[in-house]
Amino acid sequence: MIDRILQDAADGVRISPEQAAALYADAPLADLGAAADRVTRRRYGDEVTYNVNAHLNPTNICVVGCGFCAFAVWTEKDERAYAYSVDQLVDRARELSDLGITELHIVGGMTKEYTLAYYEDLFRELKATLPHVALTALTAVEIDFVARLAKVDHREALARTLAAGHDTMPGGGAEVFSPRVRAIIADRKVPAETWLAVHREAHRLGMRTNATLLFGHFETPEEKVEHMAALRDLQDEAAAQPGGFQAFIPLPFLPGNTEFAYLPGPSREEKLRTIAVARLFLDNFPHIKGHWVMLGEEVTSEALAFGLDDLSGTLTEERIAHATTVQTPLGLTQDRIGDLIRAGGRTPVERDTLYRPVDRDAVTA
Ligand code: SF4
Repeated sequence: MIDRILQDAADGVRISPEQAAALYADAPLADLGAAADRVTRRRYGDEVTYNVNAHLNPTNICVVGCGFCAFAVWTEKDERAYAYSVDQLVDRARELSDLGITELHIVGGMTKEYTLAYYEDLFRELKATLPHVALTALTAVEIDFVARLAKVDHREALARTLAAGHDTMPGGGAEVFSPRVRAIIADRKVPAETWLAVHREAHRLGMRTNATLLFGHFETPEEKVEHMAALRDLQDEAAAQPGGFQAFIPLPFLPGNTEFAYLPGPSREEKLRTIAVARLFLDNFPHIKGHWVMLGEEVTSEALAFGLDDLSGTLTEERIAHATTVQTPLGLTQDRIGDLIRAGGRTPVERDTLYRPVDRDAVTA
């Protein structure tokens, strides 16, 4: 039975959640990888894309207090707290743009000073200063937070950030949709329905967005697949909309410096199985993207043969994963990303935020 499901999925036949769970549990790892790799190669040949981006995290003060988060602090009284003004962030973005970035990834803590008006101001100033840099900003959870502060609905909040220069939405805040697991790791975070509703609205407004899964802590394989099934359903709906999901990003949980530091974190095999099942199950997702900081460089290269076709950029100034005990260097240079992709037997291709090829000479001219 497993061979039949693998064959179907590799041929592009849609598989059910039960079949995906069976693959996760019982398919031999090498066969699972080979099936996922067939899908990836049929779509992209041996090319693996990446972009050159940098992170701006406006504040680490956050009232949500997720147990798995090593980045945030509760209050400004914490000695690790920081909170940047719009001017400070624009100055920093100007410096970062000298590195030839094509995208700024902007996410941070949620606190009442960081309002919808603040982000409108930030996006307008960034676009005025760096019109060629795309803004991948504000998770669905942040959109919901600033909308509630401003007493507007999700649609109005998104329409306002879009008018200010917002380009795409990152996939964070999804964690695991299972209410059972959310109650353990993120009990004050909004439920899955809210996350999905914000992305649905963004797709209706024509935005491209991403989706994540934080795995390797308390979730079962069935809960992983249920999470992916909710995303696949929403992407089916988006087929009739101008926007939609671009990439699914499986994020391995990093226990260091979190409330759950006693957990081992996901094994190499769990990472590879999750990526491969995602590639086979999410037939309507264009890209399966590897967050190399969280996967680790070695597994990232290996995972290119298990369904990854895209990497998460050069990530200059990435602070969120680095707040755990992650060992990956801050900001790989383009050369190192290229080496990482070539070590996996693939050809690196730089892309922009919307997956168009980048003419590096034009960016740095
Ligand atoms: S994961 Fe996000 S919402 Fe949760 S505490 Fe960290 S910054 Fe706040």
